[in-house]
Amino acid sequence: MGYLKTTPNRDGYFGEYGGAMLPPPLEPHFKEIREAYERISKSADFIAELRLIRKHFQGRPTPISYLKNMSGRLGGAQIYAKREDLNHTGAHKLNHCMGEGLLAKFMGKKKLMAETGAGQHGVALATAAAYFGMECEIHMGEIDIAKEAPNVTRMKLLGATVVPVGFGGRSLKEAVDSAFGSYIEQADKALFAIGSVVGPHPFPMIVRDFQHIVGVESREQFLEMTGDLPDMVAACVGGGSNAMGLFSGFIDDEGVSLHGVEPLGTSSKLGDHAATITYGEDGDIHGFHTLVLKDENGEPAPVHTIASGLDYPGVGPEHAYLHKIGKVNYTAADDKEALAAFYASSREEGIIPALESAHALAFAMREAPKNPGKSILINMSGRGDKDIDYVTETFGFGDES
Ligand SMILES: *Cc1c(COP(=O)(O)O)cnc(C)c1O
Repeated sequence: MGYLKTTPNRDGYFGEYGGAMLPPPLEPHFKEIREAYERISKSADFIAELRLIRKHFQGRPTPISYLKNMSGRLGGAQIYAKREDLNHTGAHKLNHCMGEGLLAKFMGKKKLMAETGAGQHGVALATAAAYFGMECEIHMGEIDIAKEAPNVTRMKLLGATVVPVGFGGRSLKEAVDSAFGSYIEQADKALFAIGSVVGPHPFPMIVRDFQHIVGVESREQFLEMTGDLPDMVAACVGGGSNAMGLFSGFIDDEGVSLHGVEPLGTSSKLGDHAATITYGEDGDIHGFHTLVLKDENGEPAPVHTIASGLDYPGVGPEHAYLHKIGKVNYTAADDKEALAAFYASSREEGIIPALESAHALAFAMREAPKNPGKSILINMSGRGDKDIDYVTETFGFGDES
């Protein structure tokens, strides 16, 4: 229990990373959020309502599945998956969105606002807004809008306003800039609900706390299933929320090694990947200090990965810290490995994974043969329905290799 109670510090620092570098007009609003969260998140009323939502609306707890066929074929470590793809709306993001929506309700706010990359955060937040009877405004890059059309349709059906972002790289980074601009105008009635463990304090902490349920359930379920803790725990890292959720359940367990898997895209050349911890350097992005992929001018670099939910040139400050202190090992899997995992999981296990989650599974497939007698638990952070058209139209059905 030690780690989570003491990290971050009162100012939102994980070691040297994190903090809140805000334009002055936003400062009072973030102070309001910080103070409200401290008070509300500890109140029995809030906790009781969140538990009810988890169980009766989200469908938690989600199970852990033993990936029997893949484990057998790979012939080494046994692979297990925490099934966040079975969480309502099909990904782990609803865990923090329902928490953020409930926080907004307790704060008397009428609107939820955010950016979205793959559209998963937008769908999850629009779902929360519908549940709580609030307005919802989602900013999304035009490239992502084209790539993730079904999620745009879902957001609109759920009653959200989708604002297309057409400047710069027209992807997640620009969507964050655009959403913050709009929030400054309406911060009195709206809560900005950040979609990962990124952004200025207190969001990296708030989002981690709301994702903690994944780790808590996983630890209990794995013990019950196998009588032991997993040897290795792995999750994909974009901003890092699904990874922090899972890791936080095992962070005080010395015998469990934690592994974050970044997207290596098409190559290790700047611009071809989004492996921020592996190749980034210290810097500031979107109001906090962390590791950043920078271009020659020191600005956040363009990034690429097949998984648009991992498409971000920064990373949550807690991951930068856990990397620095050596508590978590970070590695990367490229587009090809992720695709191979996508096809394998679909065909051998009957689980079509999100391309993001396929990065975590790619890590397990790489490590399993080298670790006989061990167990690996990955976070199946979301389902791949959103990716099937893109994957099959671009790469076929995976039977030619
Ligand atoms: C958004 C998303 C991710 C990446 O977000 P993190 O904050 O890094 O967890 C991973 N998997 C799925 C399915 C997603 O939708």
